[in-house]
Amino acid sequence: MKTESIYVNKKSGIPLYGIDYMGVIDRGTNVIELKPLTLCNLKCKYCFVSAGDYNNNFIVDPSYLIEKVDAIIENKGRYNIEIHLAPYGEILLYPKLIELIENLWKIEGIETITMQSNGMLLNKGIIKELEEVGLTRINISLNSLNEEKASYLCDSYFNIDALLKNIKTLLNSKINVLIAPVWFPGENDDDIEEIIKFIIDLRDQGYSEKKIQIGIQKYLIYKTGRKLKKIRPKSWDFFYKQLSRLEKRYKIKLKLGPRDFNIHKRKNIASLDVKKNEFIKLTIISKGRWKNEFIGKIDDDFGVKVLVNEPSINSENFIGKKINARIIKANYKNNILTAVFPI
Ligand code: SF4
Repeated sequence: MKTESIYVNKKSGIPLYGIDYMGVIDRGTNVIELKPLTLCNLKCKYCFVSAGDYNNNFIVDPSYLIEKVDAIIENKGRYNIEIHLAPYGEILLYPKLIELIENLWKIEGIETITMQSNGMLLNKGIIKELEEVGLTRINISLNSLNEEKASYLCDSYFNIDALLKNIKTLLNSKINVLIAPVWFPGENDDDIEEIIKFIIDLRDQGYSEKKIQIGIQKYLIYKTGRKLKKIRPKSWDFFYKQLSRLEKRYKIKLKLGPRDFNIHKRKNIASLDVKKNEFIKLTIISKGRWKNEFIGKIDDDFGVKVLVNEPSINSENFIGKKINARIIKANYKNNILTAVFPI
């Protein structure tokens, strides 16, 4: 099947609110999440969004993102806003990253800019550029210090030595670092402890608790994501008990909550009053990431992910159509909608 890169700008007419994998996500706090692209350089076996494998990829124009973020901040309050760059993919593949960060800082109210990365594309030059443009923190997903294990989990070559050197360069820059391993019970238990010791060692070397943080993530399985064979996720209760055990053993704080990141509730701006099983009128404006996925446009701001369950429908005969779709998922907190067609 032909794959395509879809460039999303104002002229494209594709809305930036409401789609989970692209654009702007407002979760009703002081943190606004941006998803500027869907490309990834890895194909992690556990990727909950199946990145690196999409039929169509999306790249969003930075000025379009800026316009929509500014509109949200205007209503949310121009103070203490964090922008978190967290694509379904790898942020360092975004060609306009520096320009985007530079222009985000021009928006009144933004005080923190953070981003998520797998770290593989870091190098001294990029770190310098990110430091100069004022990135506050980088969250790096590192699941093991063992190259073979890390490569197995990412289904790609994961150069640990290079990453550790780059982490050192980051630590000696103005950028803070958060190491965010995913804990796969029975798969990387020892590796998690190795990473904890690595953090403790860095703190012993004089790097502060703010400079180098650790945020262990629970392995979650999603229907549309890739799954690690034989690994069964444990309950949240089990996860927190294990974290408490490790906190005691290593005398380090591992259970982090919104307060640790200065996250607090704020007005949810991009809000639509739509409920599950309701019908919604929309225009199909674009293909989605997969063959059976499209983007429906409600208005200039809001889009809906539309799943199509009719094999005769394709982009040639569907894009531009006005349809009535049925909402099958309405995540009010995040204002993310999924609809199905035919109903
Ligand atoms: S987990 Fe992250 S780095 Fe790995 S494939 Fe998914 S988006 Fe890419």
